[in-house]
Amino acid sequence: MKVQSTRGGQEIPALNAVLQGIASDGGLFVPETFPPIDLDEAKQCAEKSYSDLCGYVLSLFFDLGREDLSALARSAYAGFDTPDTVPLRPLPENEYVMELTHGPTLAFKDMALQVLPRLTQAALEKEDTEENILVLTATSGDTGKAAMAGFMDVSRTAIFVFYPDKGVAEMQRLQMVTQKGDNTGVCAVRGNFDDAQTGVKRLFASPQFRDAARSAGWTPSSANSINFGRLVPQIAYYVYAYAKLLADGKLGDGETVNCCVPTGNFGNILAAYYARRMGIPIGRLVCASNSNNVLTDFFRSGSYNAGRPFHKTMSPSMDILISSNLERFLYEMCGRDSAMVRAWMQALSETGTYAVPADMLPAMQELIWADWLSEEETAQIIRDVFNSLGYLMDPHTAVAQGVCLKYRSATGDRRPMITVSTANPYKFPQDVLHALTDSWVEEPFAAARELSELTGTQIPPQIAELQQLPVLHDGVTDRDTMGDAVLRFLGRVKK
Ligand SMILES: *Cc1c(COP(=O)(O)O)cnc(C)c1O
Repeated sequence: MKVQSTRGGQEIPALNAVLQGIASDGGLFVPETFPPIDLDEAKQCAEKSYSDLCGYVLSLFFDLGREDLSALARSAYAGFDTPDTVPLRPLPENEYVMELTHGPTLAFKDMALQVLPRLTQAALEKEDTEENILVLTATSGDTGKAAMAGFMDVSRTAIFVFYPDKGVAEMQRLQMVTQKGDNTGVCAVRGNFDDAQTGVKRLFASPQFRDAARSAGWTPSSANSINFGRLVPQIAYYVYAYAKLLADGKLGDGETVNCCVPTGNFGNILAAYYARRMGIPIGRLVCASNSNNVLTDFFRSGSYNAGRPFHKTMSPSMDILISSNLERFLYEMCGRDSAMVRAWMQALSETGTYAVPADMLPAMQELIWADWLSEEETAQIIRDVFNSLGYLMDPHTAVAQGVCLKYRSATGDRRPMITVSTANPYKFPQDVLHALTDSWVEEPFAAARELSELTGTQIPPQIAELQQLPVLHDGVTDRDTMGDAVLRFLGRVKK
């Protein structure tokens, strides 16, 4: 299938978009149409395995052959720590927690970033080029590690990650700076996530930087959640959840479910919207934010305003004021009017704000209901859910859980809810322990041990081992010198 830019300037095969990342006009690639899901087919796949289902969904977008794509998915998810890949944990009152946390880096980013490198390699082979791909990524905490874990030692690729210094959790930082692999690099940026993300966008837009990378033999691409190759594997788990609940008799034929998604860059929840457009009976999409609640305000008022204080929270992967993937949603909501999208995005980059016409708002609100949780409310949810159900949630998942409760009490809508769990609690042991006990243990491994004793849960091996691993990456840069850091790294990488 073909994909087109939200800004109207480019249309290419979906597989090429995986290599290119962002469109040449600065827009994001979206499918030219939404291919319909055959629910019977999906149900049969879901009964076989997650990878079969994922292969089916990938084959609706990428011209690589269904068998090959299923094999690709099997290899992508082979390292997950549970045979069902994406467990659906039932909670009282028709709620299911969809655990996207069982991959090598313990965050939902693995769902897409174990697939993306394999798709990249398949695309390079199909194109029959001599190109080498340099993946550049800004991370709010989880993307960086998950992308490096995915691309490590994948031939003809190299990956360089920027994270905001002091903007990620300590375990997240340790996961990154201890990353092995000859083709991986990491550097801190002085600033917050939006600074790092803007810096990476500028590198992509800079002819000097692109030329310098090209003359070293590398074509820059992005593994950020704007990459179309990340979006499709995310659609798969919403299709899977619905098909699996149907197959298990937990849902009746045609019954609708709601989904509640802890949201930052709007990639995860956008995938749920795409699944809905492909025919999955999804009702309301509940958009959950932390105190960086720019999306809550947007879905209530229709005006987006990034000009506000940036809060550092215990759910750092959602500490985002510029939600990139919202552009794809707006494109659909305005009837695919790329001139309108261009005008909004220009206003956003020049003034930090834009507003959609009042007549667009009701249709948006029918699809999306948005709210946010304060830090105190988030801690309270972690405590309540553990004390009443014995289930330990990380702060991001707790934000979704709290907003799910707010949604249900505000609307009375009791349809089944799929609440998305995006990280393992041991990535944030100090905050989770603090939520349960009110005491703060500064040293993260001591906090993890205490959390384990208190809750009777296991410290995941990926966390326990971090204490022994040597730090391999200690660079720090300013936003203006990010390009130099990348070029120095390329000088060291073997092709
Ligand atoms: C990235 C991330 C999110 C936000 O997902 P988006 O697709 O950016 O909206 C939420 N929780 C965790 C743990 C994440 O890593």
